[in-house]
Amino acid sequence: MPYRLLAIFAHPDDEGAVSGSLVRYARSGSHVTLCSVTRGEVGESSDPALATRETMGQVRQGELECAVKTLGIQQLRFLGYRDSGMAGSAENDDPRAFVQSPATEAVGRIVALIRELRPHIVITFEPGGWYGHPDHIAASRHTTTAYAAAGDATAYPEAGTAWQPQRLFYAAILKEGWRAFVEWQVSQGMDVSSFGAFRLDEPDPMAALITHGLDCSADAPLKRQGLACHRTQFGGEHQMMRVPDAVFRAAFGHEHFVQVQPPLTPTPGAPLIEDLCHGVNDDDHAR
Ligand SMILES: [Zn+2]
Repeated sequence: MPYRLLAIFAHPDDEGAVSGSLVRYARSGSHVTLCSVTRGEVGESSDPALATRETMGQVRQGELECAVKTLGIQQLRFLGYRDSGMAGSAENDDPRAFVQSPATEAVGRIVALIRELRPHIVITFEPGGWYGHPDHIAASRHTTTAYAAAGDATAYPEAGTAWQPQRLFYAAILKEGWRAFVEWQVSQGMDVSSFGAFRLDEPDPMAALITHGLDCSADAPLKRQGLACHRTQFGGEHQMMRVPDAVFRAAFGHEHFVQVQPPLTPTPGAPLIEDLCHGVNDDDHAR
């Protein structure tokens, strides 16, 4: 069925968490737009030869364009903010940083995007931002506000004709997936200290909220090809590229979502819904 999906994330490579799902809909005739709020300007490069501090945003834009092409995602947009860096870094205070933007301005930009593209489905981060990245948290909050405002003709009247999408999903990365990946790294004697922010030894607050689960394991190799485009992040000997296919598939082959609007409470023990477009109508195509 031809639906329109809009996924709003913060940095080049964030899309990798749900790229199997985006591939599935793009391939089946739906139209998928990926919007990256920033160009990932302040990340570290895996290889200094690939980018400097000055060129990082431009290089990462090119890497995301590569990923979108590899995955068959139809459209890529940027919201034009600057990467705010990790929590507590000096980059948080840059006036161009996404976290410095007034909420009404950021929400207004997302409302304008929703009204222009008229998606049925909107996807963003869960409120915790996967591991607490300030841009992820802000993207989740502003997209949630914009989702409701987009359909209200009295809100942001300068941002176009009101359009109400039918579903808002939070993309989650369950700790069980990360644990599989980290266990393999430990077995290889690798340093896993960078996973501290994921608090993998603690219970997963997202697990009980998941409503939708897509088995994308058949597309795991394609997911990894998409990640490979992000050379400044996964270049060289990065563990994401070295992990055996079976471990990658086990860790990242299933993608998980929480249906936020309309609110849906999962029934414990019930199977997850396997289609983000389940129950969505595409009547607007006839108008
Ligand atoms: Zn990110």
